[in-house]
Amino acid sequence: MTSIRSLAQMRPVTAVQTICPVFASFGPATIRTIKRQQYRLLVLAPLLVGLCQAGQAHAQRASPSTPSGGAVTLFQNVRIFDGKSSTLSGPRNVLVRGNQIERISTSPIPTDRSASTVLIDGGGRTLMPGLIDMHWHAMLVRPTVAQLLTGDIGHLNLVAGAEATDTLMRGFTTVRDVGGPVFGLKRAIDEGTVGGPRIFPSGAIITITSGHGDFRQPFEVPRELGATRSRGEQVGAAMIADSPDEVRVRVREQLMLGASQIKLTAGGGVASPPSPLDASTFTEAELRAAVEAAENWGTYVTAHAYTPESIRRSIAAGVKCIEHGHLMDEPTAKLIAEKGIWLSTQAFPDELAEAFPPGSSEREKAEEVFAGTDRTFTLARKYKIKTAWGTDILFSPRLARRHGELLTKLTRWYTPAETLVMATGTNAQLLTLSGKRNPYPGKLGVVEEGALADLLLVDGDPIANIKLIEDPQKNLLVIMKDGRIHKNTLAK
Ligand SMILES: [Zn+2]
Repeated sequence: MTSIRSLAQMRPVTAVQTICPVFASFGPATIRTIKRQQYRLLVLAPLLVGLCQAGQAHAQRASPSTPSGGAVTLFQNVRIFDGKSSTLSGPRNVLVRGNQIERISTSPIPTDRSASTVLIDGGGRTLMPGLIDMHWHAMLVRPTVAQLLTGDIGHLNLVAGAEATDTLMRGFTTVRDVGGPVFGLKRAIDEGTVGGPRIFPSGAIITITSGHGDFRQPFEVPRELGATRSRGEQVGAAMIADSPDEVRVRVREQLMLGASQIKLTAGGGVASPPSPLDASTFTEAELRAAVEAAENWGTYVTAHAYTPESIRRSIAAGVKCIEHGHLMDEPTAKLIAEKGIWLSTQAFPDELAEAFPPGSSEREKAEEVFAGTDRTFTLARKYKIKTAWGTDILFSPRLARRHGELLTKLTRWYTPAETLVMATGTNAQLLTLSGKRNPYPGKLGVVEEGALADLLLVDGDPIANIKLIEDPQKNLLVIMKDGRIHKNTLAK
């Protein structure tokens, strides 16, 4: 890092070239012109530092995370669940170089036996893609609502970092974060400061006054024009927007911060006291404004919606994915299927309702939503809706420890193989809707040559016994993300 003092000792042109590599590429004529402007440049230098830093931040977002250099790992004698098929392969050898799966072969793969090559004898165990949770809130798993809205953001980030490391250790190598101030955490994970999954961030949930995500207290209403924003908005957890123009601003802000997709709440929610479940929140024009802004950036909007009305309005406005959908009816399920819209849904455990006091409106809303789980999955199957899976674990570190169990609950509606395909290959297909806003270009959710190396070595056959996923500490022997080994209990 160049110090301010050493910059002050340089000639202005050299100093500016040192601050920002862009200027280092200028030719002699340009430099002569610059020399004439040396005094002005000295004045401009601090501004240029800011601009270059901003440029570097953007560049970091675009590049793949934690490049693994030329490191080589060879998995020998593994059977592969590839994220697409319903059966395991026969014995295979899998070579990972850098952050990609380079080769899969039935015959031995020669490697140089240098110290940087890691050999893992799979002993016939199963190699599968890292799990993907499509409805995650990395910043909201461990704190309570009160801590989120009143706590120190530095503390919240550190707590979320510890949770992110645990998330990865449960075998989840990617999460789609559908709301929360997660950009700093994502960056810390990507640069290797803290262990954690790849994060596809939405940034702040965008909602309306009194919508799901508006956590203001009654005394904060009315909001004066130009008044200080609420705490939830200040920390970037949720943004309130009440017109198409305001929606556009809020969407574009999240895109500026690095959102890979945009999350809106199109209807009421369980955890927000002022939003009734039956309420449709945004108007179609407001939803359309968000869709336009997101599509101009090459990405998409996903909408929190339980009821047929809020689902239908979202689809009419161009929303590409519905979160939850637990109160949908049959004609709406048909519409979702016909339009090729994604349904990102969850099998909520009953214990989640117990987070709310008996008799409270939140408890009643939770019970109403949870009662729709069976119908939703049944309709999703019946109409072959493109279905992605996530958990939506909020404010409950206890439930987070049962992350894998929330996945295996899907075997009530799907075979174990279908369940595992959904949490890997299928979820990864939905991630591709982020287009060029995908922070991790490359193939996720599959074990195939050329795919990104996010891999789990399971002590057994998870298709024959999906419950292996419920105890990751015991049964996930190797956890690799982006070609880097984060856990290896087979290491000698
Ligand atoms: Zn959620």
